[in-house]
Amino acid sequence: MSGRVIVITSGKGGVGKTTSTANIGTALAKNGARVVMIDTDIGLRNLDLLMGLENRIVYTLVDVIEEKCKLNQALVKDKKIPTLSLLAAAQTRDKTAVNAEQMKEICDKLKEEFDFVLVDCPAGIEQGFQNAIAGANEAIIITTPEMAAVRDADRIIGLLEVKEEILSYKLVLNRVRPRMIQSNDMLGVTDVQDILSVKLLGVIPEDENIIVSTNKGEPVVNMENTKAGEAYNNIARRLLGEEVEIPDFETPPPTFVDRLKNLFLAPAKV
Ligand code: ADP
Ligand code: MG
Repeated sequence: MSGRVIVITSGKGGVGKTTSTANIGTALAKNGARVVMIDTDIGLRNLDLLMGLENRIVYTLVDVIEEKCKLNQALVKDKKIPTLSLLAAAQTRDKTAVNAEQMKEICDKLKEEFDFVLVDCPAGIEQGFQNAIAGANEAIIITTPEMAAVRDADRIIGLLEVKEEILSYKLVLNRVRPRMIQSNDMLGVTDVQDILSVKLLGVIPEDENIIVSTNKGEPVVNMENTKAGEAYNNIARRLLGEEVEIPDFETPPPTFVDRLKNLFLAPAKV
């Protein structure tokens, strides 16, 4: 059976593509899937840093394309999870070192061996984006609840729609602050969904543990009891076909006065 090739994309930079790739990849592998993550952000590689694998890289995506090594030789195994691997981006400045056809060939080979091939996309809609989507059959669009990011996500959806090989796309809303949504200071989950009309795969709260995790080179899904880690794990379970409810971030929790009222207005127990 052939694996799923999923591109993780956004249009705007800095919204959490690489963080999401590292965490969804790790969570899928922890749930038993065979996963490879490809960093296509040539010149700016950082997926290896988030995974704490930067010292283990010998060959990169560009070395595979230039036939300096075999594809399997360039796959770096995760330190903890044996079914998780990374194909790192080269640090060359030459962004034309890879073309879409070559990327598709690599994805096609990898999906024979892995259940999931996750492609971390660079920002923008230029060659790097075209390469990243070249071999994909599915897309995860990451956005934050800011108008500029939502607008860029909308543009990306337009570009994905014309690519027939991409059979499904789903949305991940990142860096959500429930209190700000509840006080109408931030676009809500339903607002973003209304604008983009794409099925929601998950919502990741703003979480300082992501900063700790990035500095440690350890995905947040490997840290105990973190909100972001739990949300990413739920995304992985949904991708694996489980029904996992998305929590309500929009309804304010009952205030102290509400709770008192409920207590007094509740029918007396007999
Ligand atoms: P991209 O790959 O889209 O450019 P990154 O994954 O590198 O984005 O994330 C950009 C920055 O935002 C990083 O510093 C990351 O730690 C931070 N970040 C991403 N998601 C969250 C979150 N849910 N909570 C807090 N910080 C986050
Ligand atoms: Mg990135």
